[in-house]
Amino acid sequence: METLADLDARVTECRACPRLVEWREEVARTKRAAFRDWTYWGRPVPGFGPADASLLIVGLAPAAHGANRTGRMFTGDSSGDVLYAALHAVGLASRPTAVSADDGLTLRGVRITAPVRCAPPANKPTPAERANCRPWLLDELRLLRPTARALVVLGGFGWQATLPALAEAGWAVPKPRPAFGHGVRRTLPASDGGPPLDVFGCFHVSQRNTFTGLLTPAMLRDVLRDAAHVAGL
Ligand code: SF4
Repeated sequence: METLADLDARVTECRACPRLVEWREEVARTKRAAFRDWTYWGRPVPGFGPADASLLIVGLAPAAHGANRTGRMFTGDSSGDVLYAALHAVGLASRPTAVSADDGLTLRGVRITAPVRCAPPANKPTPAERANCRPWLLDELRLLRPTARALVVLGGFGWQATLPALAEAGWAVPKPRPAFGHGVRRTLPASDGGPPLDVFGCFHVSQRNTFTGLLTPAMLRDVLRDAAHVAGL
C-alpha cells in the first residue's frame, strides 16, 4: 500500500500540465537576482508535515520564487514568513522562520499542502490545471484521513479547489457548497460513519492581505488555535 512518503516522491515527477512545467522550469533557470546562487527546485512541491497529522493547512499553489525555489510549501517567501511565525507562536512549528528545505524546521501534528503543486504564472492556475492536480490532493487526503480532524483553507481560490476534493475523499460537503469567508467553520460528517472534519476558512497569507491589514497575525493565530484545538493539538 502506498505511503505518504511514496506519494510525495511520485508527485515531484509529475509533468501533466505543459504550461506549468514550462513556467516552473523557466523560473528555475532564469531565477530572481536575489537568489541567483540558489539551485531552484523547479518541480512540483509535495506536502510538508508528518504522515499522521491531525491538522491540515491548504493554500493554493507554490510561489515562483518561494516553494518553487526551496522545494517546501510556503518556504522562502513573505507568505511563509507570516504563516510559519503564526504556527510557531501557537506551538505548532519548531521555529518561526522557513528558509530552506534543510533548515531543520519541523511541524507538530500539522501538514501543509496545496491543491496545485506547481507554481503558476501570476499565481493563477487554470481550471484545467486545477482539475489535473486534484488527484494528488485527493490521494493525500485519503492517506491522512485516519488522523485528520481539522483543515484550514487559506483563501477563496483554495477553498473552491479543496471542497470538491474533500467530497471525493469521503466527507459530506453540503450542497450548495458553503461560501468562503474568514472565520467560516463547517463540520463535514464522514460519508462512511468515520470521524468528521472541521473545515476553517482563513484569508490567504498573501502579501496583499497582510500588508493591507486584511489579515493580521492575531487573526491568523486565532484561526490556527481554534483549528488546533479541534485537532487535539
Ligand atoms: Fe502535475 Fe499538479 Fe504540477 Fe500539473 S500542477 S504538472 S498535475 S503536479
